[in-house]
Amino acid sequence: MTEATLSGSDRSLQEAFDVALLDLDGVVYRGAHGVPHAAQAVDSAREGGMRTMFVTNNAARSPQTVARHLTDLAIPTGPEEVTTAAQAAAALVASEADADTRVLVIGGDGLREAVLAEGLDVVETAADAPTIVVQGFAPTLGWPDLAEAVYAISAGADFVASNIDATLPTERGMAPGNGSLVAAVVHATGVQPRSTGKPQPEIFHQAAERSGARQPLVVGDRLNTDLAGARAAGYPGLHVLTGVDGIDEVLRARPGERPEFLARDLRGLAESHPQPFRDGELWRCRDASVSIREGQVVLHRDGAELLLGETSVRMDEFRAAAAAAWDASDTAGVDTVLSTPDQPAQLASD
Ligand SMILES: [Mg+2]
Repeated sequence: MTEATLSGSDRSLQEAFDVALLDLDGVVYRGAHGVPHAAQAVDSAREGGMRTMFVTNNAARSPQTVARHLTDLAIPTGPEEVTTAAQAAAALVASEADADTRVLVIGGDGLREAVLAEGLDVVETAADAPTIVVQGFAPTLGWPDLAEAVYAISAGADFVASNIDATLPTERGMAPGNGSLVAAVVHATGVQPRSTGKPQPEIFHQAAERSGARQPLVVGDRLNTDLAGARAAGYPGLHVLTGVDGIDEVLRARPGERPEFLARDLRGLAESHPQPFRDGELWRCRDASVSIREGQVVLHRDGAELLLGETSVRMDEFRAAAAAAWDASDTAGVDTVLSTPDQPAQLASD
């Protein structure tokens, strides 16, 4: 990975990489429902010899609970195939622990179990003089819990957060995530926590180690967590369009959060990936040709020129457009040369 642009792979990704480090929400399921084609795609990847490790910033649910949910969605999964931000946080605390370490857990059962699984001493309140506070999301967290955290941190305890996502997707929309509850504690104490969840690299390093991966591939739907974490960890990332960030966000991605591969959905694991290349003013990817002109992506089709946004874009045009837009933006030294889209870009159907 010398520069932050798309890579190519002549072999399918499930042949080229030994373990997929898969995000959950927006990749495998959305809320209670499976993402279309996800179960078959995971099945096919496993049959092709690729192993799977699900990596989630959700610290409220235990690996057993996540594995059961996946199994219910026709993706048979054991708890050893799940790495949570709670486990990553607990591993960090354990790596620094000594005989005096006492942990105050502010969070759900998943976090408490992860800390206990590391053999750490858990205390119940700030009055027990904890040396470290670990905070993760739970829908039941309230003022009394946050108050215990503030008392302990004000008395000198260290502070670790499983993740600092501002929002949490729910069936009714975005709700406050762990980062928003952590912000209340930060506001009251002036102390910033260390975090081990995405986009920090620790959770991916731990997931790769636990799965024995030699060539891991991160798969995600959010540039600023999954793909930024992949870059930070030094692993290639596949971005799928079934979740949060769509075509327009990918085209405007900054170098630190760019994927190396793009796919419509998890079926992209079974495909080879053509690499875009520059050809004069154009960027090409197989039969697709695009250029960047005055802040717009121009699609060159059969001698005609169409603007992205006026028509749906084919997968290879999307790949060429990403490479073209990133190159133009890097050359200009700006976050993006593209103007704000009038309407969201749409992917053409197969
Ligand atoms: Mg996601």
